[in-house]
Amino acid sequence: MRKTKGLAILGSTGSVGRSTLDILSKAKEGFNVTGLSTNKNITLLKEQVKQFSPKFVAIRDSLSADEFRSLNSFPGKVFSGLEGMEELASARGTDVVVMAISGAEALKPFLSAIRSSKTVILANKEALVMAGSLIMEEVRRYKTRILPVDSEQSALFQLLDDAYTEDVHKVYITCSGGPFLNWSKDKIYSASPGDTLKHPTWQMGKKITVDSATLANKAFEVIEAHWLFNVPLDKIKVVIHPQSLIHGMVEYSDGRLFASMHKPDMRIPISYALGLKSFSREDLTTDFTSLGPLTFQDIDEDRFPLFRIIIGSLKLKNGPLIATVANDIAVDAFLKGVIKFGQIPEVVFAALSSIEEEPREGWEHIFYLQDKTKQVSQEIIEGLIK
Ligand code: MG
Repeated sequence: MRKTKGLAILGSTGSVGRSTLDILSKAKEGFNVTGLSTNKNITLLKEQVKQFSPKFVAIRDSLSADEFRSLNSFPGKVFSGLEGMEELASARGTDVVVMAISGAEALKPFLSAIRSSKTVILANKEALVMAGSLIMEEVRRYKTRILPVDSEQSALFQLLDDAYTEDVHKVYITCSGGPFLNWSKDKIYSASPGDTLKHPTWQMGKKITVDSATLANKAFEVIEAHWLFNVPLDKIKVVIHPQSLIHGMVEYSDGRLFASMHKPDMRIPISYALGLKSFSREDLTTDFTSLGPLTFQDIDEDRFPLFRIIIGSLKLKNGPLIATVANDIAVDAFLKGVIKFGQIPEVVFAALSSIEEEPREGWEHIFYLQDKTKQVSQEIIEGLIK
Protein backbone atom coordinates (compact mmCIF):
# COMPACT_ATOMS: atom_id res chain seq x y z
CA MET A 1 0.00 0.00 0.00
CA ARG A 2 1.16 3.48 -0.81
CA LYS A 3 2.33 5.60 2.09
CA THR A 4 0.06 8.50 2.99
CA LYS A 5 1.91 11.79 2.64
CA GLY A 6 1.53 14.78 4.90
CA LEU A 7 0.43 17.85 2.94
CA ALA A 8 0.28 21.50 4.00
CA ILE A 9 -1.32 24.29 1.97
CA LEU A 10 -0.09 27.84 2.22
CA GLY A 11 -3.07 29.86 1.06
CA SER A 12 -5.77 27.23 1.60
CA THR A 13 -8.60 29.78 1.48
CA GLY A 14 -7.52 31.14 -1.93
CA SER A 15 -8.55 29.84 -5.32
CA VAL A 16 -5.82 27.17 -5.78
CA GLY A 17 -6.04 26.20 -2.10
CA ARG A 18 -9.78 25.60 -2.32
CA SER A 19 -9.41 23.61 -5.55
CA THR A 20 -6.70 21.47 -3.92
CA LEU A 21 -8.93 20.69 -0.95
CA ASP A 22 -11.82 19.92 -3.30
CA ILE A 23 -9.63 17.31 -5.03
CA LEU A 24 -8.39 15.87 -1.73
CA SER A 25 -11.90 15.59 -0.34
CA LYS A 26 -12.80 13.37 -3.30
CA ALA A 27 -9.52 11.50 -3.76
CA LYS A 28 -9.84 9.98 -0.26
CA GLU A 29 -6.34 8.53 -0.18
CA GLY A 30 -2.73 9.44 -0.73
CA PHE A 31 -2.62 12.56 1.44
CA ASN A 32 -3.25 13.58 4.99
CA VAL A 33 -3.72 17.35 5.46
CA THR A 34 -1.23 18.51 8.11
CA GLY A 35 -1.41 22.28 7.74
CA LEU A 36 -3.72 25.01 6.41
CA SER A 37 -3.24 28.75 6.20
CA THR A 38 -4.95 31.99 5.33
CA ASN A 39 -4.25 35.70 5.22
CA LYS A 40 -7.36 36.63 7.21
CA ASN A 41 -10.29 34.55 6.03
CA ILE A 42 -10.73 32.75 9.34
CA THR A 43 -14.38 31.95 8.68
CA LEU A 44 -13.44 29.69 5.77
CA LEU A 45 -10.33 28.46 7.60
CA LYS A 46 -12.52 27.27 10.47
CA GLU A 47 -14.67 25.25 8.06
CA GLN A 48 -11.59 23.74 6.41
CA VAL A 49 -10.11 22.87 9.81
CA LYS A 50 -13.32 21.11 10.75
CA GLN A 51 -13.28 19.06 7.55
CA PHE A 52 -9.56 18.21 7.34
CA SER A 53 -8.32 18.31 10.98
CA PRO A 54 -4.79 19.64 10.39
CA LYS A 55 -2.23 19.75 13.20
CA PHE A 56 -1.14 23.27 12.33
CA VAL A 57 -2.64 26.45 10.96
CA ALA A 58 -0.89 29.66 9.98
CA ILE A 59 -2.65 33.03 9.80
CA ARG A 60 -0.78 35.85 8.10
CA ASP A 61 -2.72 38.70 9.68
CA SER A 62 -1.87 38.89 13.39
CA LEU A 63 -5.24 40.29 14.52
CA SER A 64 -7.06 37.50 12.73
CA ALA A 65 -4.66 35.01 14.33
CA ASP A 66 -5.52 36.37 17.79
CA GLU A 67 -9.21 36.15 16.98
CA PHE A 68 -8.78 32.55 15.79
CA ARG A 69 -6.87 31.64 18.97
CA SER A 70 -9.52 33.23 21.18
CA LEU A 71 -12.11 30.89 19.70
CA ASN A 72 -10.21 28.25 21.61
CA SER A 73 -11.64 25.31 19.74
CA PHE A 74 -8.57 24.37 17.67
CA PRO A 75 -6.45 21.75 19.43
CA GLY A 76 -3.36 22.17 17.22
CA LYS A 77 -0.78 24.89 16.92
CA VAL A 78 -1.57 28.34 15.49
CA PHE A 79 1.32 30.18 13.79
CA SER A 80 1.00 33.82 12.84
CA GLY A 81 2.61 36.49 10.68
CA LEU A 82 5.07 35.91 7.84
CA GLU A 83 7.27 33.86 10.21
CA GLY A 84 4.21 31.72 10.88
CA MET A 85 3.94 30.96 7.15
CA GLU A 86 7.62 29.94 7.22
CA GLU A 87 7.00 27.70 10.23
CA LEU A 88 4.04 26.03 8.55
CA ALA A 89 6.13 25.46 5.39
CA SER A 90 8.80 23.63 7.39
CA ALA A 91 6.62 21.85 9.98
CA ARG A 92 7.39 18.23 10.88
CA GLY A 93 5.15 15.52 9.49
CA THR A 94 4.64 17.41 6.23
CA ASP A 95 6.13 15.93 3.04
CA VAL A 96 4.46 18.15 0.46
CA VAL A 97 3.83 21.89 0.62
CA VAL A 98 1.37 23.55 -1.75
CA MET A 99 2.53 27.15 -2.25
CA ALA A 100 -0.71 28.85 -3.14
CA ILE A 101 -0.16 32.34 -1.76
CA SER A 102 0.27 35.08 -4.32
CA GLY A 103 2.82 37.85 -4.49
CA ALA A 104 6.47 38.41 -3.65
CA GLU A 105 5.86 37.67 0.00
CA ALA A 106 5.81 33.94 -0.80
CA LEU A 107 9.60 33.96 -1.20
CA LYS A 108 10.54 33.32 2.44
CA PRO A 109 8.00 30.54 3.12
CA PHE A 110 8.91 28.96 -0.25
CA LEU A 111 12.56 28.96 0.74
CA SER A 112 11.70 27.54 4.13
CA ALA A 113 9.86 24.60 2.47
CA ILE A 114 12.80 23.88 0.15
CA ARG A 115 15.33 24.01 2.99
CA SER A 116 13.30 21.45 4.93
CA SER A 117 13.44 19.24 1.80
CA LYS A 118 9.68 19.29 1.25
CA THR A 119 8.35 18.63 -2.23
CA VAL A 120 6.86 21.95 -3.31
CA ILE A 121 3.74 22.09 -5.43
CA LEU A 122 4.08 25.57 -6.80
CA ALA A 123 1.23 27.88 -7.72
CA ASN A 124 2.99 31.12 -6.77
CA LYS A 125 5.12 32.51 -9.57
CA GLU A 126 6.60 35.68 -8.12
CA ALA A 127 9.13 33.91 -5.87
CA LEU A 128 10.72 31.97 -8.71
CA VAL A 129 10.75 35.01 -10.97
CA MET A 130 12.48 37.08 -8.27
CA ALA A 131 15.24 34.68 -7.37
CA GLY A 132 15.15 31.80 -9.86
CA SER A 133 18.84 31.06 -9.96
CA LEU A 134 19.27 31.01 -6.16
CA ILE A 135 16.11 28.97 -5.66
CA MET A 136 17.11 26.30 -8.18
CA GLU A 137 20.49 26.09 -6.45
CA GLU A 138 18.73 25.46 -3.11
CA VAL A 139 16.46 22.85 -4.75
CA ARG A 140 19.59 20.93 -5.85
CA ARG A 141 21.32 21.37 -2.49
CA TYR A 142 18.33 20.11 -0.48
CA LYS A 143 17.58 17.38 -3.03
CA THR A 144 13.95 18.31 -3.43
CA ARG A 145 11.58 19.03 -6.31
CA ILE A 146 9.25 21.74 -7.51
CA LEU A 147 6.11 20.50 -9.25
CA PRO A 148 4.21 23.27 -11.06
CA VAL A 149 0.43 23.70 -11.01
CA ASP A 150 0.25 26.76 -13.18
CA SER A 151 -1.54 25.38 -16.26
CA GLU A 152 1.18 26.47 -18.71
CA GLN A 153 4.03 25.13 -16.59
CA SER A 154 2.09 21.93 -15.97
CA ALA A 155 1.70 21.54 -19.74
CA LEU A 156 5.45 21.95 -20.27
CA PHE A 157 6.17 19.65 -17.33
CA GLN A 158 4.06 16.96 -19.01
CA LEU A 159 5.50 17.56 -22.48
CA LEU A 160 9.16 18.01 -21.65
CA ASP A 161 9.10 15.23 -19.10
CA ASP A 162 11.00 17.40 -16.64
CA ALA A 163 13.94 18.12 -18.93
CA TYR A 164 14.73 20.42 -21.80
CA THR A 165 16.85 18.83 -24.51
CA GLU A 166 18.86 20.34 -27.35
CA ASP A 167 16.50 19.06 -30.04
CA VAL A 168 13.68 21.32 -28.79
CA HIS A 169 13.15 24.04 -31.40
CA LYS A 170 10.51 26.13 -29.59
CA VAL A 171 8.55 26.01 -26.37
CA TYR A 172 5.16 27.74 -26.60
CA ILE A 173 3.24 29.20 -23.69
CA THR A 174 -0.32 30.19 -24.48
CA CYS A 175 -2.12 33.24 -23.18
CA SER A 176 -5.87 33.85 -23.14
CA GLY A 177 -5.24 37.55 -23.79
CA GLY A 178 -7.26 38.51 -20.70
CA PRO A 179 -10.35 40.72 -20.57
CA PHE A 180 -8.82 43.54 -22.67
CA LEU A 181 -7.68 41.51 -25.66
CA ASN A 182 -9.77 43.56 -28.09
CA TRP A 183 -9.83 46.87 -26.23
CA SER A 184 -8.18 50.05 -27.55
CA LYS A 185 -5.04 51.41 -25.88
CA ASP A 186 -6.90 54.39 -24.34
CA LYS A 187 -9.73 52.27 -23.01
CA ILE A 188 -7.24 49.83 -21.43
CA TYR A 189 -5.42 52.74 -19.75
CA SER A 190 -8.45 53.72 -17.73
CA ALA A 191 -10.00 50.27 -17.17
CA SER A 192 -11.57 49.89 -13.72
CA PRO A 193 -10.85 47.13 -11.19
CA GLY A 194 -14.34 45.80 -11.98
CA ASP A 195 -13.51 45.47 -15.72
CA THR A 196 -10.17 43.90 -14.86
CA LEU A 197 -11.52 41.23 -12.57
CA LYS A 198 -13.80 39.80 -15.29
CA HIS A 199 -11.45 37.19 -16.74
CA PRO A 200 -12.95 35.48 -19.81
CA THR A 201 -11.77 31.91 -19.17
CA TRP A 202 -10.16 31.42 -15.74
CA GLN A 203 -11.52 31.85 -12.20
CA MET A 204 -8.58 33.04 -10.08
CA GLY A 205 -7.56 35.28 -7.19
CA LYS A 206 -7.50 39.09 -7.63
CA LYS A 207 -3.75 39.61 -7.91
CA ILE A 208 -3.25 37.06 -10.69
CA THR A 209 -6.40 38.23 -12.47
CA VAL A 210 -4.99 41.77 -12.69
CA ASP A 211 -1.65 40.31 -13.85
CA SER A 212 -3.52 38.38 -16.52
CA ALA A 213 -5.11 41.61 -17.75
CA THR A 214 -1.78 43.50 -17.97
CA LEU A 215 -0.07 40.34 -19.34
CA ALA A 216 2.52 40.65 -16.54
CA ASN A 217 1.45 37.12 -15.66
CA LYS A 218 2.59 35.86 -19.05
CA ALA A 219 5.97 37.57 -18.77
CA PHE A 220 6.38 35.94 -15.35
CA GLU A 221 5.51 32.56 -16.87
CA VAL A 222 8.25 32.94 -19.50
CA ILE A 223 10.83 33.57 -16.76
CA GLU A 224 9.38 30.79 -14.62
CA ALA A 225 9.58 28.24 -17.48
CA HIS A 226 13.18 29.28 -18.07
CA TRP A 227 14.10 28.43 -14.46
CA LEU A 228 11.91 25.37 -13.98
CA PHE A 229 12.91 23.54 -17.14
CA ASN A 230 16.21 25.16 -17.99
CA VAL A 231 14.84 26.34 -21.35
CA PRO A 232 16.89 29.15 -22.95
CA LEU A 233 14.81 32.35 -23.00
CA ASP A 234 15.09 32.80 -26.76
CA LYS A 235 13.38 29.45 -27.30
CA ILE A 236 10.23 30.44 -25.38
CA LYS A 237 7.42 32.03 -27.34
CA VAL A 238 4.10 33.34 -26.08
CA VAL A 239 1.07 32.98 -28.31
CA ILE A 240 -2.40 34.41 -27.64
CA HIS A 241 -5.00 31.65 -27.69
CA PRO A 242 -8.30 33.07 -26.38
CA GLN A 243 -10.04 29.69 -26.00
CA SER A 244 -7.54 28.55 -23.31
CA LEU A 245 -7.78 24.94 -24.42
CA ILE A 246 -4.10 24.50 -25.31
CA HIS A 247 -1.84 25.48 -22.40
CA GLY A 248 1.62 24.73 -23.73
CA MET A 249 3.33 23.29 -26.78
CA VAL A 250 6.76 21.87 -27.53
CA GLU A 251 8.07 21.79 -31.07
CA TYR A 252 11.11 19.71 -31.95
CA SER A 253 13.71 20.58 -34.59
CA ASP A 254 12.36 17.92 -36.95
CA GLY A 255 8.94 19.64 -36.97
CA ARG A 256 7.04 17.40 -34.54
CA LEU A 257 4.71 19.50 -32.40
CA PHE A 258 3.08 18.40 -29.14
CA ALA A 259 0.35 20.28 -27.32
CA SER A 260 -1.12 19.81 -23.87
CA MET A 261 -4.85 20.52 -23.84
CA HIS A 262 -7.60 20.54 -21.27
CA LYS A 263 -10.52 22.61 -20.06
CA PRO A 264 -9.44 25.78 -18.24
CA ASP A 265 -9.97 24.35 -14.76
CA MET A 266 -7.14 24.40 -12.23
CA ARG A 267 -8.20 21.09 -10.70
CA ILE A 268 -6.66 19.30 -13.69
CA PRO A 269 -3.05 20.56 -13.27
CA ILE A 270 -3.38 20.38 -9.47
CA SER A 271 -4.38 16.70 -9.50
CA TYR A 272 -1.55 15.99 -11.96
CA ALA A 273 0.99 17.66 -9.65
CA LEU A 274 -0.39 15.67 -6.72
CA GLY A 275 0.22 12.52 -8.76
CA LEU A 276 -3.48 11.63 -8.75
CA LYS A 277 -3.55 10.57 -12.38
CA SER A 278 -6.42 8.17 -11.88
CA PHE A 279 -8.54 10.91 -10.33
CA SER A 280 -11.64 11.03 -12.48
CA ARG A 281 -14.11 13.85 -12.88
CA GLU A 282 -16.50 13.65 -15.75
CA ASP A 283 -17.19 17.39 -15.77
CA LEU A 284 -13.52 17.98 -16.59
CA THR A 285 -13.41 15.99 -19.82
CA THR A 286 -13.60 17.69 -23.22
CA ASP A 287 -16.23 17.23 -25.90
CA PHE A 288 -14.40 18.04 -29.15
CA THR A 289 -17.49 18.24 -31.30
CA SER A 290 -18.83 21.15 -29.28
CA LEU A 291 -15.61 23.18 -29.50
CA GLY A 292 -15.51 26.15 -31.81
CA PRO A 293 -12.39 27.12 -33.77
CA LEU A 294 -9.06 27.41 -31.96
CA THR A 295 -7.31 30.67 -32.82
CA PHE A 296 -3.80 32.05 -32.27
CA GLN A 297 -2.20 35.49 -32.55
CA ASP A 298 0.82 37.48 -31.37
CA ILE A 299 0.87 39.78 -28.31
CA ASP A 300 0.38 43.47 -29.13
CA GLU A 301 3.15 44.94 -27.01
CA ASP A 302 1.99 48.47 -27.73
CA ARG A 303 -1.33 47.91 -25.95
CA PHE A 304 0.22 45.65 -23.30
CA PRO A 305 3.53 47.38 -22.46
CA LEU A 306 4.04 45.58 -19.14
CA PHE A 307 4.81 42.33 -20.96
CA ARG A 308 7.71 43.97 -22.78
CA ILE A 309 8.89 45.84 -19.67
CA ILE A 310 9.12 42.66 -17.57
CA ILE A 311 10.81 40.62 -20.32
CA GLY A 312 13.17 43.58 -20.84
CA SER A 313 13.98 43.59 -17.11
CA LEU A 314 15.95 40.39 -17.69
CA LYS A 315 18.74 42.57 -19.04
CA LEU A 316 19.36 43.83 -15.48
CA LYS A 317 20.80 41.39 -12.97
CA ASN A 318 17.94 41.80 -10.49
CA GLY A 319 15.48 43.27 -12.98
CA PRO A 320 12.82 40.54 -12.59
CA LEU A 321 12.94 40.95 -8.80
CA ILE A 322 12.44 44.71 -9.00
CA ALA A 323 9.69 44.32 -11.62
CA THR A 324 7.88 41.67 -9.53
CA VAL A 325 7.89 43.65 -6.30
CA ALA A 326 6.99 46.95 -8.01
CA ASN A 327 4.16 45.19 -9.83
CA ASP A 328 2.84 43.79 -6.52
CA ILE A 329 2.70 47.27 -5.02
CA ALA A 330 1.21 48.82 -8.17
CA VAL A 331 -1.51 46.15 -8.47
CA ASP A 332 -2.44 46.66 -4.84
CA ALA A 333 -2.70 50.43 -5.40
CA PHE A 334 -4.80 49.85 -8.52
CA LEU A 335 -7.21 47.53 -6.70
CA LYS A 336 -7.61 50.14 -3.97
CA GLY A 337 -8.46 52.77 -6.58
CA VAL A 338 -5.29 54.79 -5.94
CA ILE A 339 -3.81 54.53 -9.46
CA LYS A 340 -5.17 53.84 -12.95
CA PHE A 341 -4.74 50.53 -14.74
CA GLY A 342 -2.41 52.18 -17.26
CA GLN A 343 -0.20 53.41 -14.45
CA ILE A 344 0.73 49.88 -13.35
CA PRO A 345 3.36 49.57 -16.14
CA GLU A 346 4.52 53.12 -15.41
CA VAL A 347 5.25 52.25 -11.77
CA VAL A 348 7.16 49.11 -12.76
CA PHE A 349 9.15 50.96 -15.41
CA ALA A 350 9.99 53.81 -13.01
CA ALA A 351 11.12 51.36 -10.31
CA LEU A 352 13.38 49.57 -12.79
CA SER A 353 14.87 52.90 -13.88
CA SER A 354 15.47 54.27 -10.39
CA ILE A 355 17.07 51.33 -8.58
CA GLU A 356 20.73 51.07 -9.39
CA GLU A 357 22.59 47.85 -10.08
CA GLU A 358 24.90 46.73 -7.31
CA PRO A 359 27.57 44.08 -7.50
CA ARG A 360 26.31 42.35 -4.33
CA GLU A 361 24.77 38.88 -4.54
CA GLY A 362 23.07 36.23 -2.41
CA TRP A 363 19.94 36.06 -0.27
CA GLU A 364 20.73 39.02 1.97
CA HIS A 365 20.90 41.22 -1.10
CA ILE A 366 17.65 39.76 -2.47
CA PHE A 367 15.79 40.57 0.77
CA TYR A 368 17.38 44.01 0.91
CA LEU A 369 16.30 44.72 -2.68
CA GLN A 370 12.82 43.41 -1.97
CA ASP A 371 12.38 45.98 0.84
CA LYS A 372 14.05 48.74 -1.12
CA THR A 373 11.82 48.16 -4.16
CA LYS A 374 8.70 48.22 -1.96
CA GLN A 375 9.73 51.58 -0.58
CA VAL A 376 10.75 53.07 -3.95
CA SER A 377 7.50 51.87 -5.58
CA GLN A 378 5.41 53.48 -2.82
CA GLU A 379 7.28 56.76 -3.42
CA ILE A 380 6.70 56.50 -7.17
CA ILE A 381 2.97 55.98 -6.57
CA GLU A 382 2.82 58.96 -4.18
CA GLY A 383 4.51 61.06 -6.88
CA LEU A 384 1.97 59.90 -9.49
CA ILE A 385 -1.11 60.81 -7.45
CA LYS A 386 0.05 64.21 -6.23
MG1 MG B 1 -0.98 30.44 -16.04
